[in-house]
Amino acid sequence: MAALAAAPTQPTETGAPAMTLVTPAAADTAAAAPTPSRMLTGDRPTGRLHLGHYFGTLHNRVRLQDAGVETFLIIADYQVLTDRDVAEHLAEHVEDLVLDYLAAGIDPARTTVFTHSAVPALNQLLLPFLSLVSVAELQRNPTVKDEIAHSRQSTVSGLMFTYPAHQAADILFCKADVVPVGQDQLPHLEVTRTIARRFNDRYGRVFPEPEALLSAAPLVLGTDGTKMSKSRGNAIALSATADETAKLIRRATTDADRTITYDPDRRPGVSGLLLLAAHCLGRAPEDIAAEIGDAGAARLKALVTEVVNEHFAPLRARRADLARDRAYLHGILREGNARANEIADRTLREVRTAMGMDYGV
Ligand code: ATP
Ligand code: MG
Repeated sequence: MAALAAAPTQPTETGAPAMTLVTPAAADTAAAAPTPSRMLTGDRPTGRLHLGHYFGTLHNRVRLQDAGVETFLIIADYQVLTDRDVAEHLAEHVEDLVLDYLAAGIDPARTTVFTHSAVPALNQLLLPFLSLVSVAELQRNPTVKDEIAHSRQSTVSGLMFTYPAHQAADILFCKADVVPVGQDQLPHLEVTRTIARRFNDRYGRVFPEPEALLSAAPLVLGTDGTKMSKSRGNAIALSATADETAKLIRRATTDADRTITYDPDRRPGVSGLLLLAAHCLGRAPEDIAAEIGDAGAARLKALVTEVVNEHFAPLRARRADLARDRAYLHGILREGNARANEIADRTLREVRTAMGMDYGV
């Protein structure tokens, strides 16, 4: 399969990929790509999904699902522990993710939603996969470096270092060939591809080499002008109320220059806000900036608040409806976990056979 997106490679001070803001005017990389057959992607249950998730990957997930691609969404609960001692409020965060998915258009009849900890055979793939990467490769992974830089822990756990190999297990257990992700995940995906290639070379072909799928918004900025993240206090949740949204945007970082211009390198705060409006309106951020001109940051913030609230009102209403039926959410997870287990058991059997470990199976 042809590459679906180019990976930006300039390193930042943390070694993470340089920020590349792609505007809605830029072609969405999904559009021209050949149709893949199986998609896997997911989220850590560390809080509610935000606008970065929506424009960064969720929208693409729904689009591929609707185009007939078999879809898997993993709720990566073990991976919460990569950067903190204790995974708090897990059950609540897991329910929140399922609600966010459904409200955004994920259909459980066509998409398998499951939690990573409920699929033992998936986690067992980590062991052979770890044998296929060197410690040095894990140490220089830019995503790992960036996540360590933002970690809540004073030391780095083994789970943090093995995160990319674990993610390879998440993706390869179901033999996904496409993974819609934000830009921060590209180095992890490269590890998955390397592991798939090395496994196939060493033991015979079992796995596809999955492609990353970047959307037109691979790096949505938060209210402080850095990557919008659940864990960094800079996010606007999909489920925020109109008032909460207004308050968060009012507090967003801008700068002293009254004239609004789109300049991501020098003005990340203003440019991040312009991009939010641009993604909601499907317009170029430069045009929105030109319209605001000398009216300043207050006008920009009022516009962003208005368009975000308008764009997400239907999703928020659906989410509120769905939240009334928790039993339905649990049923989706039960069925998703059962299906993920069937597939993971099958893949693990294949892996053991390929590795000559099929005695007693
Ligand atoms: P945390 O702060 O807990 O790491 P997060 O906001 O980074 O949370 P993840 O669960 O780590 O969210 O990421 C889930 C998916 O969403 C990944 O594919 C990631 O690349 C994508 N994503 C996260 N934040 C953004 C963003 N600001 N812009 C575009 N994509 C994003
Ligand atoms: Mg993250």
